[in-house]
Amino acid sequence: MMSENFAAFLYLVSGVLFILALRGLSHPTSSRQGNIFGMVGMGIAVVTTLLLAHPSAGALLLIIVGIAAGGGVGAVVAKRIPMTAMPQLVAGFHSLVGLAAVCVAAAALYAPEAINIGTVGNIHTQALVEMAIGVAIGAVTFTGSIIAFLKLDGRMGGKPIMLPSRHLINIALAAGLVLCLVIFATTESHIAFWLVVLIALALGVLLIVPIGGADMPVVVSMLNSYSGWAAAGIGFTLQNLALIITGALVGSSGAILSYIMCKGMNRSFISVILGGFGGESGPAAAEGGEARPVKQGSAEDAAYLMMNAARVIIVPGYGMAVAQAQHALREMADTLKAHGVEVKYAIHPVAGRMPGHMNVLLAEANVPYDEVFELEDINSEFAQTDVAFVIGANDVTNPAARDDKTSPIYGMPILNVDQAATCLFVKRSMASGYAGIDNTLFYKDNTMMLFADAKKMVENIVKAMAH
Ligand code: NDP
Repeated sequence: MMSENFAAFLYLVSGVLFILALRGLSHPTSSRQGNIFGMVGMGIAVVTTLLLAHPSAGALLLIIVGIAAGGGVGAVVAKRIPMTAMPQLVAGFHSLVGLAAVCVAAAALYAPEAINIGTVGNIHTQALVEMAIGVAIGAVTFTGSIIAFLKLDGRMGGKPIMLPSRHLINIALAAGLVLCLVIFATTESHIAFWLVVLIALALGVLLIVPIGGADMPVVVSMLNSYSGWAAAGIGFTLQNLALIITGALVGSSGAILSYIMCKGMNRSFISVILGGFGGESGPAAAEGGEARPVKQGSAEDAAYLMMNAARVIIVPGYGMAVAQAQHALREMADTLKAHGVEVKYAIHPVAGRMPGHMNVLLAEANVPYDEVFELEDINSEFAQTDVAFVIGANDVTNPAARDDKTSPIYGMPILNVDQAATCLFVKRSMASGYAGIDNTLFYKDNTMMLFADAKKMVENIVKAMAH
């Protein structure tokens, strides 16, 4: 058996390791090390908890079976998942944290003796308050993350779904939730507990359904934050220091990430929560071809233009991830550099489908970090650039965000690719991006569309460069 003091010390050690993990994850060069810190911290926390609780042989067996089953499924899923499906996987994992919070609170309600918070009908008030808050956040996280999963996985449309009087419905539900929380915390009523669960589940759906298009990145990081607070809530119920620390770290880092994403999108947090981005007011997306003329080019045209350029900026987007074009892209950049062309990469904060999506893919293809630039560090350079090579990006380049006050994405910072002498656009069709908005850039005189799968097109460009 382990003394409480020694356990607290080990929990502190794992807390420090989690902080080092977060720090490591903030840069691609240190991210692997950060992951290792996180794993070691979690290992210490789990072993300490087991030694402290010294469960019976039967309970220990159940715990080991649970860890093996959950860990096994997690390992298989993580190995099999393609990079393009990572955002929805993360949303799926958040939903499980929310569900776990609900289950733990329910278990505490029916067997409070097991965790020393009183007896059935006589649970300490403090524990009731903690359980109430934990279960409410957990249930909102559960259904909210499922909706985010469905939207990111394309099983539900990306456009916001706006219920009539939704603000009124949400306010009424929130008021009902607070009332049931108070009744539960003061009376330990089981009915009030399950009403809290039901209302919070409904709120999770209603809060995320109207959020659409380009606001989804903020939602994902917001749900990440909620899942952390839900875990911290369980930590209080179970009186487990490690869970409180971990939950608070995830909760606050998710909140900071949401803030950064909001800043990147030039959106206020409140307007994101209220939803409706990319709704009906926007210009309709071009579906199945457009009447307006566009200039089309071939791989040979693109190769010729870039080989004769002095400076090329590559702008990757979600399509690069879908096509897995990053390795071919790096080969193209190497060929250009060998030919004396200066090559840089420009990354928009919400390019792709998750924060850092493009950075991860470029790092996987061993693109040197000093060639990769954030939006604010490179945006002024497009005006002095010969070719902007946009590969599978769309929304993050849409000039409507800068020039068209009526556009639903007006105000979002974009990469100024239209200021380059020539803008090459690799995509398969005239289809819109995630926000569902037509991109006026396609029709500009200095834009050349290269219609093809991104990987195939880049491979053909590399071949053409060799001739
Ligand atoms: P977009 O979704 O705007 O555009 C991607 C483009 O890639 C599409 O227009 C598509 O056109 C093209 N494409 C798809 N597959 C291929 C392929 N195999 N080969 C070539 N092209 C392809 O992506 P962006 O990166 O520009 O913008 C990201 C969007 O996603 C923003 O609206 C952002 O808000 C949102 N979002 C971002 C998240 C994040 O955390 N980063 C999370 C959730 C949403 P076509 O079909 O014609 O080929």
